[in-house]
This record gives sequence, structure tokens and C-alpha cells, in this order.
Amino acid sequence: MTFARRMDRVTVSPTLKVSAEADRLRRQGVDVVDLGAGEPDFGTPEHVKDAAHAALKANFTKYTPSAGVLELRDAVAQHYHTLYGVTVTPEQVIVSAGAKQALFNTAFVLFDPGDEVITHAPYWPTIVDQIKLADARPVIVQAHREDGFAIKSAPIIEAMTPRTKAVVINSPCNPTGALISEGDMAAIADAAAARGIWVIADITYEQLIYDPVPHNLVKILFDRMPDRTVLCSSASKSYAMTGWRCGWTIGPKAMIAQCNVVQGHATSNINSLTQKAGIAALTGPQDGVTMMLDEYRKRRDAVHGWLTADPRFVCVKPSGAFYLFPYVADLLSPGGIKTTGELAEALLKEVSVAVTPGEGFDAPGFFRLSYATSLDRLREGVDRMFAFVAAMEKSGKIPAAVSK
Ligand code: PMP
Repeated sequence: MTFARRMDRVTVSPTLKVSAEADRLRRQGVDVVDLGAGEPDFGTPEHVKDAAHAALKANFTKYTPSAGVLELRDAVAQHYHTLYGVTVTPEQVIVSAGAKQALFNTAFVLFDPGDEVITHAPYWPTIVDQIKLADARPVIVQAHREDGFAIKSAPIIEAMTPRTKAVVINSPCNPTGALISEGDMAAIADAAAARGIWVIADITYEQLIYDPVPHNLVKILFDRMPDRTVLCSSASKSYAMTGWRCGWTIGPKAMIAQCNVVQGHATSNINSLTQKAGIAALTGPQDGVTMMLDEYRKRRDAVHGWLTADPRFVCVKPSGAFYLFPYVADLLSPGGIKTTGELAEALLKEVSVAVTPGEGFDAPGFFRLSYATSLDRLREGVDRMFAFVAAMEKSGKIPAAVSK
């Protein structure tokens, strides 16, 4: 069977692949510690669920405007005013099925064949595959573990050419948890504004930042380049609403109108009940967000401490999102486990721990571990990984740990 040529350029999301395999084992009754999942383990806040129940009871079950009901677009606009002090109008907002569709619409609306789109690695693979699906060419700038994976402006600005259409910044970053500094964001924005390049900020983890670092990317972009700034985000991570599919794009009015054309032909409005739930999430009590943030911080600190007790797990402490991204080259060897893909397979097979290999994030030698699961399960997962490593050591597959 032959398919459109664009299908040769993309692959199935490696994160979804891990969860599918973990799921398969779980259904067979295996006690899998799933550290692969990119989603909160918390339930959606009660008042949000209540709003959806009420909407269902009231038969709010019809088509809505494709861009989302005005009340939700207004709630998104207000939310960004509250968080960042910027003025957004509902005409600058379209509600989509998660940040994923928000980014997809953006790519479709902005990119042409031959366009270059700069982004940074390690990356969330969807960003790059969407650039390819829109027939543009991803230009990848590496972030380095020695810098804590900080996203630096200089190499991004150096990568700009007359063909550059956009820069996509993901901060906090999946998989590294790193942030771009406000200074680097400002430098990129100034360079982009001077060259007529768009900046697309994937800020899906915007409310999951653990330390008091100034991180008002939105204001920096709005002040410098309001006509070429696109923000993509969602309720998924901040409000534990991954399955509801409530995301949004904020951009210039004319660009949002184009997103609405694409979405109008693809999916139309997101689920009507989700829209009512989204309004409740954004306008209701926000204490759930703080509660989850405090809990994630506790887990981040604990798991980082446990894991790095073994010097073969080299790991910076992430500033945001809910992932650790250890470098484990010492566990790999040409005659043994060669890649973190093989390591992830072995961990799942031998000790029933699911992690996501680094290759899919353009980061060989690393794997991603999600701490969006309970402390007990995290401890269990780390214990099992350590037991696996001890067995490798005992069988002579890897040398004993040496403190570095
Ligand atoms: N951006 C990043 C960086 C992500 O990690 C994810 C989810 N894994 C998304 C966007 C999309 O999330 P959603 O579609 O659920 O809003």
C-alpha cells in the first residue's frame, strides 16, 4: 500500500508507543510502574467536573462556534491578563483539541514548502513532526546538559536565514524540564522581529514551574512583536485535564481567523461539555494548581535525590514540567545494551518499569522519567531500576559505579 509522501517523513509518537506497550502488559495483569506517562496522575478538580455534569444536564450538547464559545475564549483572554499582565481579546483566541491541535493549526497556517522552522533539541517529537507534516524543514539547535539544557538565544539567532519562517520555543521544555531565560527570550524576540520571523511559544507547562524564576515570556513577546507572536497552551497539565482536550492558540486576530478556517474544515469545535469544563477551570478556584505544583515539587526533589545517588544516572534538577531526563551512557555499551531504546525495552521486560527512551527526543544516551505518579510508585520504580542495574553489574555487563 502506498501513502502520501508526507507520511514517510513522520513516525508514531515514541511517548505514545511506550504507553501502549505498558498498557498491553497491564492488561495481561503485569504490575507495571509507568514512568512513561506525560500526564498528571491527579483527578480533574471537582468544580470542573461539576461544570461538565451541569452542561450535560442542560443539554449543552450541540455544535458551538468552531473557535469555541465566546465565554471560554474570553476566559482564556482574562487568564493571560491575570498570569502575565497582557491584554488579549477573544478574537485573538481559538480553542482547540489540546495544545497539540493548537500547534498543528499554527503549523498549517504559517508554514510553506521550503520554509525553515527553528526549534531546540532535546524536543517533544510532535513539534518537529508537525513542521514536517506542514512541508517545512525543521532546523534543530541543540541544548546541552552541561548548561542544564537551557535554551540559549545565540545559536538560535545564528540559525536564522532568509528562509526562516518561525522559531518554536517550548518552555518549560518536555523532556528536559528546562526553561528559557527571559533575557534569551527577549534576544530571540528582537532578532525575530527585525527579520519578520514568527515566534511560536509552546507553553503547555506554563503553570508547572517550581522555583521562583521570573518567566514572563508572554509579556516579553507581546511587548516586542505582538504581530508575530503565537502562544499555544492548554488545560491539560495545569488542571489535570489531558483527556478533555481543551487547548488554545493566542495570536494576531488575522492569524487566529486562519486557524479557524483550518479547524473549521478539520474538526470544528472541541467537545461542548469540555468547553464548559474549561471555563470552570480557568475562572474557578485555582488552589488545585498550587496543590499539584507543591506535590510535583516534592516528588521532583525526592526522585532526583534517589536517582542521582547512583553516579551512573547523571541528571540535572529540572525547573519545570514533570520529567527527569537522566543521562545514562554508563549503562550502555557496544557489546551490551546499546541504546536507551533497548534499555527502555529491557526495563519494561525485566522489571516492568516503563520509561521513554531519549532517541525519540533527539537525545541518545538519555531517557525520560515522568514524576507525575505517586511517591510510593516512584520509589518502587527507582528500586526496580536499581535492581536491574545491580543485576547488569553482577553479570559483568557494566562496570561497578565509580563516584564522579
Ligand atoms: N506541548 C508539549 C511540550 C507537550 O508535552 C504536550 C503533551 N505531552 C503538548 C504540547 C500537548 O498537550 P495537549 O494536547 O494535551 O494540550
